[in-house]
Amino acid sequence: NRQIQLVSRPVKGPAVDNFALRTVELRAPVAGEILLRTLYLSLDPYMRARMYDGGNYAASAALGEPMVGSTVSIVAMSNHPDFRVGDYVESGHGWQEFALSDGAGLRRIDPDLAPVSTALGILGMPGQTGYTALMRHGQPRAGETLVVSAASGAVGSVVGQVAEILGCRVVGIAGGPEKCRFLTDELGFDAAVDHRSPQFSDELAKACPSGIDIYYDNVGGRVFETVLPLVNAQARILVCGTIAVDRNQPGADGTGSMQALLSTVLVKRLSIRGFIYSDDDLMALAPEFRTRVGQWLREGRLRYREQIVHGLENAPEAFLGLFRGDNFGKLVVKVSEP
Ligand code: NDP
Repeated sequence: NRQIQLVSRPVKGPAVDNFALRTVELRAPVAGEILLRTLYLSLDPYMRARMYDGGNYAASAALGEPMVGSTVSIVAMSNHPDFRVGDYVESGHGWQEFALSDGAGLRRIDPDLAPVSTALGILGMPGQTGYTALMRHGQPRAGETLVVSAASGAVGSVVGQVAEILGCRVVGIAGGPEKCRFLTDELGFDAAVDHRSPQFSDELAKACPSGIDIYYDNVGGRVFETVLPLVNAQARILVCGTIAVDRNQPGADGTGSMQALLSTVLVKRLSIRGFIYSDDDLMALAPEFRTRVGQWLREGRLRYREQIVHGLENAPEAFLGLFRGDNFGKLVVKVSEP
């Protein structure tokens, strides 16, 4: 069984040599167990925080173990009454080709609904986070202006498209002209702004003539600081992720004006809301997410983009690309053929 193990903790930022490809023995499944073969491995920004000591809202990944992560897997052998060979499941068994399971914590995937890899993207954790947090904490109303960062990605693309369906004016922030064109031409956003452009601040202001009512922030840092002066009174700021800020290098992108944030919160009576996908109040919306987003996907009203990397051995390098914006769409590794 080939695994990518976490073998050391990052010193400054994460690096390829924090990971090692190792082959370990795997016994056969005993009574009550199944053998899972990994088809797709999800690579997600949250994994960076897991590499450090101390954890954040979740524990650190252990050294000498497969790196943590969600997979789409197929049941290859079954000694379990509830699972048959060929069943598809989402599992949390990490960066490895095979895993044994007693069935606990597995989520069944219906392969007729959509390609099974979408269980890691638009129909999985990122899509669900985008939908549920937007509805619960963003309270979008038709006619309002919503800005979303990392807008072409797994979470951002769902947030922006759902807000469009609900009648908001949607402005996406993404890195580079190709991603920006994708937002307006393929996803139907009203405008897109390139955060790498030297005129980013002016272009964002131009794209938001009535200010910003909802900012769904996936990145933090310099992008957050550029958005802040444009928010309207009583805007809702949703702090979903801070991919621009590595906890061991705070302020590495030249930002850090906490005071500007706090005085804007006060003067404009802002609500700033942080949340985690698994919060009870967001999980309560999961059935609604599955029904509505599943329906919109089937009707072609929602689109998604995936970047598929081939081969488990290429996972570390692809993962690091998330923090450079190399991925274009939900990043998944194809580990084996269905
Ligand atoms: P994406 O598919 O959006 O990939 C990450 C993207 O982030 C990159 O492609 C890049 O896009 C952008 N990015 C990376 N570094 C920077 C930077 N320094 N400045 C600006 N943009 C940057 O990832 P996800 O959709 O999976 O995740 C998006 C965010 O949501 C992450 O912060 C993640 O941690 C968070 N998240 C939070 C959850 C929660 O429960 N709170 C659940 C799921 C995700 P570009 O080229 O456009 O800059």
